[in-house]
Order: sequence, then C-alpha cells, then structure tokens
Amino acid sequence: MPDVKTRIAPSPTGDPHVGTAYIALFNRCFAHQHGGSFLLRIEDTDQQRSTGKSEQDILNALSWLGLSWDEGPDVGGDSGPYRQSQRTAIYREHIQHLLDKELAFPCFCSSDRLTELRREQMVAKQTPGYDGHCLQLEPGERKRRMDSGEAHVIRMVVPREGDCRFDDMLRGEVSINWAQVDMQVLIKSDGLPTYHFANVVDDHLMGVTHVIRGEEWINSLPKHALLYEYFDWESPTFCHMPLLRNPDKSKLSKRKNPTSINYYQDMGYLPEALVNYLGMMGWSMPGGEEKFSLAEMEAAFDISRVSLGGPIFDIEKLDWLNGRYLREDLNDADFASRFVVWASKDDRLHKIIPLIKPRVERFSDVVGLASQFIDGVVPLTPAQFEHKALSQDQCLRILQFSLWRLESLSEWDRDAIETAMQTLAAQLDLKIRDFLFPLFVAISGKAVSTSIMDSLAILGLDVARARLRNALSVLGGVSKKLAKNLDKEYRVLGQAEQPD
Ligand code: GLU
Repeated sequence: MPDVKTRIAPSPTGDPHVGTAYIALFNRCFAHQHGGSFLLRIEDTDQQRSTGKSEQDILNALSWLGLSWDEGPDVGGDSGPYRQSQRTAIYREHIQHLLDKELAFPCFCSSDRLTELRREQMVAKQTPGYDGHCLQLEPGERKRRMDSGEAHVIRMVVPREGDCRFDDMLRGEVSINWAQVDMQVLIKSDGLPTYHFANVVDDHLMGVTHVIRGEEWINSLPKHALLYEYFDWESPTFCHMPLLRNPDKSKLSKRKNPTSINYYQDMGYLPEALVNYLGMMGWSMPGGEEKFSLAEMEAAFDISRVSLGGPIFDIEKLDWLNGRYLREDLNDADFASRFVVWASKDDRLHKIIPLIKPRVERFSDVVGLASQFIDGVVPLTPAQFEHKALSQDQCLRILQFSLWRLESLSEWDRDAIETAMQTLAAQLDLKIRDFLFPLFVAISGKAVSTSIMDSLAILGLDVARARLRNALSVLGGVSKKLAKNLDKEYRVLGQAEQPD
C-alpha cells in the first residue's frame, strides 16, 4: 500500500471558514497517525470568485491554528504546482484522452436550450439534467464544429441505467442511481476545468490515497468514481465527514454563527483551544477527555470513531474550553505576553493612538477610550437607542441595512465604508448625523465616540457584524418575517438612481 497522503483543497473565494479548518484537522490527523503526509491544494478554477487575498487569508488562518501541511503552494513539494490555475496544460492533456476514447464529448447547446430543457423537466417533475443531445452527433461533425471554433463545453458520458456503488469509510456501501447523475461539464466554455475534473486529476497525480471531505460532496462521488474508472486509475478511499451545524441543527452559516476563523482570532480565542474544539466535532478521545492538544489527538486518532450525527458548533462550549486554556495552560507571564501579542495584532495599537490622542488628558484616559477597539461584543440596553428623531424600529432598520451594505463591500477600508454609509443614509433620506446614531451605539456602546468609520475599519467586518447582530437582538431581534420585509425594502433602495 502506498504511503498515506491526504489533502485539504480549499477554494479561495471568501473568508477562511472554520469548516475548512475542521476538515484540514481530520485529514492531518489521519495522515500523521499513519506516518503519511498532508498536502494543501488551492482550487481556484472559479476565476470570477477566487482572489489572492482569500488564498493568503486561508493559508494564514490554517497556519495560525498550527495545521501545517507538508506540500503546498507556499512550501512546494514533488507534485506541484499546487494551485489549479497553474495546471491548465495538465487538464487539457487529460481531457484529450477522454475525448479520444469517447468517454467525454463536446456539447454545443446554447444556454437558451438548456434553460428550456430544465423548465420542461421541472414541469414533467423529472430530475433536471442534460439530455444527451450532443452525444448523438457524428464524430466527424463534432470535430468539424470544434475545429471551426464554435463555443462548446466538454461533458462526461454517464451511464443512464443501474447504480453506482462505492464505499465510504464512515457509511459503508453507498449506492446512487446513475439516472440521478448529470452528464457533468468537465471543461467550461472558457477552456478551464470544473471542480469535478480538476479535483480528480489532481488527487490522482498528487498521489492522494484518502479523500476526507465534507458530506456535501457525497452526491458528486459517482462522477468522481466514474472518472477514476475512465482513466483506469486506482480510486482513493473516500470518507465524507458530517457537516458542522448551528445550535438549531441547520448547516453552520454566517447568518447564525460567525464562521470566519478571523473572527475567532480577532475575539481573542487561543488557536490551540479552537483546534481542540474542532477535534470534538463528531469525534472524542477514547478516554472521553474534553481538553486535548493536537499532538494528543493525532496520537489517539481513529477515524472510525467519527460519529455521523451533525456536530453542533456551540460558541458557549468553545468559550468554556478557551477559558480553561487561558487559566490552566498559561502562567501569568505567558498570559501577559500572549495578551499583548493579541492586542497589538495587525498593528492595532498604532492605528488606535491617532484616534484617541485628541481626546486624552492623561495616560489614565487611554484604556477607557481604547476599550471599544479591543472589546468583543459591547453590552447594550434598548434605552441606549432612544433618540429624538428615530424610533427603535427605525434604528433596527438602519442597523440591518448597514450590516447588509457592509457585508457587500469588496474592500474593507475607511473610505469604502464611509462612501457606503453615506450612500445608504441618502437612500434612506436621513441626515447623516441621525443615520449614524444607532451605529455609534451598536459599535462603540456610546452615543458619541471616536470616528465610527475608523472604528469599523479597525474592528474588521467579523467583529462589526457580531456587534451589529447583538444590537439587533437588543432591539427585539429580526424574525424571519421581519427579515423578509426588510429584505424587500432593502432591494428597492436606490434603484431609481442606478444606471440600467
Ligand atoms: N474545493 C472544494 C471545496 O472548496 C474541495 C472539495 C473536496 O475536498 O473535494 O470544498
């Protein structure tokens, strides 16, 4: 049996997600426990949504957690490049092999035809999927149309009958009817591969022996298994981990729980506590200890002990565990030095000084003024939102709209935040002073404080989001129904002035 090799394959399309760290942790434990290695591959085939910043943030966040990798875009290795955007020639060569064997075919169908097909299938209550139209074309015609440069994608041939059966390390045999499996696009019209194709080719070429990933990929496995068969490659062993859940059992989402690793770093959690907590998601130490280090987890690891019930990511439990680490593992000197490192993260102190300096008369004023930049969620009461020109409902509306607007920013800096807030105030037809009042209270806990734009810029979106959410709940919360109404209102805001 070849040496065990596992991988984490994040797509750099957003904030570093705790779910990525969770899957990375289990892959790393599995590999190390078998004396194998663990690699990191960047899956940036979605050119529209992938960014260099997101890639860097993911690498930084996993490094902060101590989940280092043996091969990857930053550390190199024998199977690189480890970024899919640099592997286009490899995919081209491999798709040609499938085309030559007629296991894949060009599809020239227009998006109009595909939309109409989907509509008809919906009406007829059939599983939506490609109907094989271009599979009927004669080889000569296929070649002529491809050579003439006609726009096309490349799809894989998929059997229409029978079942695809495969083994999952946690679930045993899984069976999916081929009729449920679409003739997946492998190469898009821009010549780039889809996730499914690039993922299988890379796992094989990089020597991955065990694919341990989130449960959301299990329905894709027939496509992957079929590609291994088409290439006549030995398939890796698959293991689909249960998804992390919110306390209400829904899939962990940032609407309900902070999901960005940056948030946990900004709020002052210790990386070793967060890794320990992620290790408790669906898994437990044989002796039932709740507090364990990464090394202890690796030494005792056994993947068959993963339980399939959706593990709940519960921040209160994480708080309890983090508190234990702070009290039990850090002596006073370590506590002091790690606190200072945390408080000065991203040069935060230097950013705060120019904001508070105009307001201080003594050094003893500093901590009071600086606290809002260092605190997590500031305590609030509904009375703090009383205002001569705004009702509490209006305050709630301003806060919710501001949160949505801030979440949509692609750049997080003072100017971008200021422009966004001024535009929103104008769209709501409010004086900027009145508009900013609930934001001041929500963010700083005071009606007057240092510049709100600077505060938001320094705090970052994750902490700002937590404070705005807290303010919304202090104002009575946003029920599903209210959210729907607010969403309707928000969508039409400023539409009149938008160019068409
Ligand atoms: N790029 C995929 C993701 O972002 C990887 C899924 C897999 O592990 O196969 O989740």
